[in-house]
Amino acid sequence: MPTLAEQIEAVKQQAEAWHSEYFERLLSQVGNICKTRPVLPKVQYRDSVFSACGTFNYEDNVTTYSVPYLLCHCREYEEIVAHEVCHCFHYAIWGRHNPHGKNFLYLLRDVCGFTSATPYHSFSPLAVERKAAQMGFKPKADVAFKKERTLAGMMRIHQQLRGKK
Ligand SMILES: [Zn+2]
Repeated sequence: MPTLAEQIEAVKQQAEAWHSEYFERLLSQVGNICKTRPVLPKVQYRDSVFSACGTFNYEDNVTTYSVPYLLCHCREYEEIVAHEVCHCFHYAIWGRHNPHGKNFLYLLRDVCGFTSATPYHSFSPLAVERKAAQMGFKPKADVAFKKERTLAGMMRIHQQLRGKK
């Protein structure tokens, strides 16, 4: 049985393999219509489950992947990796306009092959957090702090709703 650290290393390696694979595929198929030649985005990881399962920052050319989502949904995460790499090419071809529009879906569905992909996912952050915790995963302190604030915010909203009744 691999240790948690080994499992994390394995899912990161898998994510980076997909990252390069979809980058190369997009480059070979739509590289010729890019206004500037895309550079393989840097990969970062985060421990949080309380925001998107992946992000692409076009200013820094960095994709961020989530370790707990990767641990709990590694196979399904392939589409998230392709999705973020598509953002890099969408930006290089069409700029910032309409980042999840039909051009984006063309890249994700027709070029990357996720034929029924939509721009959004319905992974449950709480279920991922629970499952990752069962695997022994402990997010870094700043994530726990952020979660506390999120929960405090949610409680405030509930209290306000209750107060209105
Ligand atoms: Zn997106």
